[in-house]
Amino acid sequence: MLAWWREHKREFDWRSRPLTSYEVAVLEILLRRTTATAVANVYPSFIERFPGVTSIAGVPHSVLSTFLKGLGLENQRASDLKNMAQHVLSRKSKMFAAQTHELEKTPGLGPYAARAIQVYARGRAYCPIDSNVSRVFSRVFRDAIGSRPRISEFQDFADALVTRTRPRAFNWALMDLGATVCRYDRPRCEVCSLSPICDFFRRNNPKK
Ligand code: SF4
Repeated sequence: MLAWWREHKREFDWRSRPLTSYEVAVLEILLRRTTATAVANVYPSFIERFPGVTSIAGVPHSVLSTFLKGLGLENQRASDLKNMAQHVLSRKSKMFAAQTHELEKTPGLGPYAARAIQVYARGRAYCPIDSNVSRVFSRVFRDAIGSRPRISEFQDFADALVTRTRPRAFNWALMDLGATVCRYDRPRCEVCSLSPICDFFRRNNPKK
């Protein structure tokens, strides 16, 4: 999968440089229920205008929501951003929590964003599971985890699969493969690097 990804990776501003926990948290809030392409048009200028938690904690909600127009759900995103920033500033350390279970409880974040911070800001071996990643796993490991597994039931399993030395690349590769190859409607199994280990592929191609 990593070899495939080297040739087919999607390029985004946020993949081109190391990110702080704050930058990952903002990115994940912006990416909810919209496309990466739409976020790419907003994210660099958002980070330039609001470079840290202190820069958004005191800003009026309306300023944030206006800045986010075009992504949709701008009121919800503005609330999540402000609640997150105010929570971090209320902590004694004024920093994001170190442990995943504490990060998950940060207002505006949750399990996915918490794991994304661990991976992309801190280089830790976690696997945030979104709909694309869930679809890839439920096809590749169908015999083991079923076709419609609950994320809570296989999160530990997914975390254990992450390449310890390259957690960022592993997760980007998995996301890109889910978005462009293991598509919802028409999976492109004929060009998929995971086909040799994929239960879905084997079931549909019994002689291969
Ligand atoms: S072989 Fe097909 S079903 Fe399996 S992961 Fe690849 S694209 Fe998805």
